[in-house]
Amino acid sequence: MSEITHRTKTRKVKVGNLTIGGTNEVIIQSMTTTKTRDVEATVAQIHRLEDAGCQMVRVACPTMEDALAIPDIKRQIHIPLVVDIHFNYKLALKAIEGGADKIRINPGNIGKQENVEAVVRAAKDKHIPIRIGVNAGSLEKHILDKYGYPTADGMVESALHHIKILEDLDFHDIIVSLKASNINLAVEAYEKAARAFDYPLHLGITESGTKFSGSIKSAAGLGILLHEGIGNTMRISLSADPVEEIKVCRELLKTFGLTNAATLISCPTCGRIQIDLIKIANQVEEYIDHINAPIKVSVLGCAVNGPGEAREADIGIAGGRGEGLLFRHGEVLRKVPEDRMVEELKIEIDKLAEAYFAK
Ligand code: SF4
Repeated sequence: MSEITHRTKTRKVKVGNLTIGGTNEVIIQSMTTTKTRDVEATVAQIHRLEDAGCQMVRVACPTMEDALAIPDIKRQIHIPLVVDIHFNYKLALKAIEGGADKIRINPGNIGKQENVEAVVRAAKDKHIPIRIGVNAGSLEKHILDKYGYPTADGMVESALHHIKILEDLDFHDIIVSLKASNINLAVEAYEKAARAFDYPLHLGITESGTKFSGSIKSAAGLGILLHEGIGNTMRISLSADPVEEIKVCRELLKTFGLTNAATLISCPTCGRIQIDLIKIANQVEEYIDHINAPIKVSVLGCAVNGPGEAREADIGIAGGRGEGLLFRHGEVLRKVPEDRMVEELKIEIDKLAEAYFAK
C-alpha cells in the first residue's frame, strides 16, 4: 500500500478567517440542531459551541425562511458559517448572498446546468468554497446501478463526478466528505479519496449513534484516518447536544497530538490505591479542559508506575498514604497532602502554561 501523507499535500481552501488543508491544523466542526430560521436559538447554540472550542459551524437550510436568516446569524457569531443545502439552487444563492462562508451542496444534484453555473459564479464572486458531501446512504442511481450497493469505489466515483462539474467551471475551492455509518466503508472511502484527489477532506462517520456509542464508533473510524494523515476538518456526529461533539473532537485530536491542548494521563486505580484518585483525576481533567497548551499532566495512584510515567509527563502526582509526590519533568518537586493535591497541581499547570505562552 502506498504511503499517504495527504494532510500536508492537500490544496489550501479559505473558509472565512480559516485556511483548511495544507499543513494547517485539523479544524473542529459541528452542526446546529435548532431551526435555522429561529435566529435567537441558533445563535445561542452557536455561542455555546464557540465556547466549547468549535471552530466552524454548519446550519441546515431546508427552506427560504432559513436562508433569509443567514445574515442575522452571521452578524452575531464569531466563527465561519457553513450552510447546508440539498438540491435547491435558489437557497444556495440566497445563503451565499446572505454571507455564508461555505456552502455544502452537491453540484450534480442541483439540476439544470445554468443553475449550477449560477451557484458557482456566486461562490466565486464571494470567494467561498463548496463542500461536496457524499453519503453512502444517498449515492446516485447510476452509481448504485453500477456497484449494486454502496461501496468505497462508488463513493469516490460520486465525489469525482461532482468535482468534475465544478472543475469544468474552473472552480477549485472544494472540500469533500465521504460519510458512511459503516466504519470500514467510510475509512476505505476516505483512504481511496486521499489517493484520488488533493482537495481537503472533511471527516465524519455519519449517524454514528448516541453520546457513548457514537463517540467510540467515531473515534475508532476517524482515529485510523488521523493516524494515516488523512483529514483536514472533522465533525463527530452524535445524537446528543452538539457541544458534546466538540468535546469528543477535541479529545480525539489531543490523543494524536494534533491540537494545542493539555492532556491527562491517569491510572485506573487498583488495590494499591491510598488516595481518592478518581475524584482527583476528574477535577484535574475539568481544570485542563480549556488550557490550550500542549502540557501532559499525569495523576497516578501510587509510586509503582508513578516516577516512570512522571518522567513522560510535564507535571504529575504519584499518590501515597493520604499524600503524594509532585513531579515536574521527572523531578520530585515536593510532597503534598491529599487535600492539597489538586490545588498544587493547578498552580504548577498554570506556571507551565504561562511559560509556554511566553515562548
Ligand atoms: Fe494501581 Fe498504582 Fe498502577 Fe494506579 S499507578 S493502577 S494505584 S499500581
